[in-house]
Amino acid sequence: MLPEGATCAVHASAPAKRTCTRCGAFACLSCPENPFYPGMCPACSARMAQPASLRSYLAITFSGLSATIYCLPFGIVGAILGHLEVQAIDRGEAPLSGRGYANAARWIGVVTGGLTIAIALIGGVLALISAVD
Ligand SMILES: [Zn+2]
Ligand SMILES: [Zn+2]
Repeated sequence: MLPEGATCAVHASAPAKRTCTRCGAFACLSCPENPFYPGMCPACSARMAQPASLRSYLAITFSGLSATIYCLPFGIVGAILGHLEVQAIDRGEAPLSGRGYANAARWIGVVTGGLTIAIALIGGVLALISAVD
């Protein structure tokens, strides 16, 4: 429910008619509602409509490559880029649409990076064992 006397976040003189489903900002009847993002305020739907940032694409590319060609540095780069991008999105500095890529890049990067380190360690231990023989 809207509090008594609440006004629109964009149009200070207009009474609020709804709240944004994402940020909770008040919106009035004259605030445009994007049909692709129903229930969101103009600011949020504009941020959703922005294309994902270059960094989110780079992050998913590096992590994707690390997962397909098992290259450790790519996974680390993807994890770092993905992490930075998620932080930027949370601060409102990067388009929301990149969040899926950035999150996926972060986790794929962590998993492939971790796996590659584990494989390298096991390989090193096996090499040591066979060297002892
Ligand atoms: Zn909003
Ligand atoms: Zn308004």
